[in-house]
Amino acid sequence: MSMKHEQSERLRERAEQLFPGGVNSPVRAFRAVGGQPPFVARAEGAYLWDADGNRYIDYFGSWGPMILGHAFPAVVEAIARAARDSSSFGASTAAEGDLAERVRAVYPGMERMRFVSSGTEATMSAIRLARAATGRKRIIKFEGCYHGHADGLLVKAGSGVATLGIPGSAGVPEEIASLTLALPYNDPGAVEAAFAQYPGEIAAVILEPVVGNAGCIPPGEGYLAGLRRVTAEQGALLIVDEVMTGFRLAPGGATELYGIDADLITLGKILGGGLPCGAFGGRQKWMDMLAPVGPVYQAGTLSGNPLAMAAGCATLDELASHRDAIYPRLEATSRAVAEGVARAAQEAGIAVTLNRVGSMWTWFFTGGAVRDYAEAAASDTARFGQFHRAMLERGVWLPPSQFEAMFLSAAHGPAEVEATVEAARAALAGMRL
Ligand SMILES: *Cc1c(COP(=O)(O)O)cnc(C)c1O
Repeated sequence: MSMKHEQSERLRERAEQLFPGGVNSPVRAFRAVGGQPPFVARAEGAYLWDADGNRYIDYFGSWGPMILGHAFPAVVEAIARAARDSSSFGASTAAEGDLAERVRAVYPGMERMRFVSSGTEATMSAIRLARAATGRKRIIKFEGCYHGHADGLLVKAGSGVATLGIPGSAGVPEEIASLTLALPYNDPGAVEAAFAQYPGEIAAVILEPVVGNAGCIPPGEGYLAGLRRVTAEQGALLIVDEVMTGFRLAPGGATELYGIDADLITLGKILGGGLPCGAFGGRQKWMDMLAPVGPVYQAGTLSGNPLAMAAGCATLDELASHRDAIYPRLEATSRAVAEGVARAAQEAGIAVTLNRVGSMWTWFFTGGAVRDYAEAAASDTARFGQFHRAMLERGVWLPPSQFEAMFLSAAHGPAEVEATVEAARAALAGMRL
């Protein structure tokens, strides 16, 4: 059980001399859970290997993209094949249309779309478009929802922002932050009240249809339909941010699962099969406001990158052609491991609330229900940190924050479930007071 970490320590010392906090994205630094993050050398299927050769079952899946498991052969081949024809042209290719057709097959509401290189770019561009479409300035988001790191979206954002316990970000001017209304999730009354307070001023409501970035929080019965109704009545756009849920909760994401009729949808993560890629799209009348057709400017040197398009096509092809096997397997494996660990916690006398939708879930270290960010924040994060460290030591790598969702891949199966539940039993036993 005692793992060696010499190589990771050496790499970390070097990284700390090169990157703020030693990382290129804050949550990778393990500040919220304590302990030191291993450096990854490679991964295959459900497993990661660190620089010292230690093996871990992966429950963060590159924060969502790796739904088929790591180094999935068809994805690797597609990338290699595309790379031989050069990795970028800055001109249109057939591959962009190929991926867009695959996206529209499962997201018919994306009548027109545009590819970008990250989820951040997708949501930031969708907001700009919504403001142009409505001629309004304000937007509504929800506490604990993360939509990337654009200025106006870093207000009460989840994920790393929640993990660090800060309300927003330094460097975002008050004038910009004040245009973002951050409301409690799952509270239809709060949205009605905001529209009443700012009549004719709200351009859009943006949300995670199932929250992943405050930990996993499902929408209450009728909540999404209520948002659709009120935004339509008020002339505001409904932007469904499916960067995390897209292609994961169903082939057509939460949009398909809950039957949402969004104005604009944002995608990322799985879309690029592990390469940098995002997209935003929706009704043609809105999308045709983008340059070069309309006045809303948006662009990208590497947008529609051929390697990302190839990896995305290979991923979506696999998901589409085996949908009747993959999604039930994701559901069954996720249920077994999520409930197995929750039961182990109960047996150990440790209060845990499990929230799960398909292959996304969170074990909140709290006795109460978790329906919004305030309830998630009531969790015992020190306990979660203890659990995280104890699991890592036993070869199970969970996302390093209470306010993140686990992500399972189709490569996970009964063997990984059993090993994980066993590790959790031992970890939880050691956490008893
Ligand atoms: C990850 C995420 C983003 C940001 O995507 P990046 O590719 O990290 O910029 C936006 N929205 C949601 C819901 C996400 O989970």
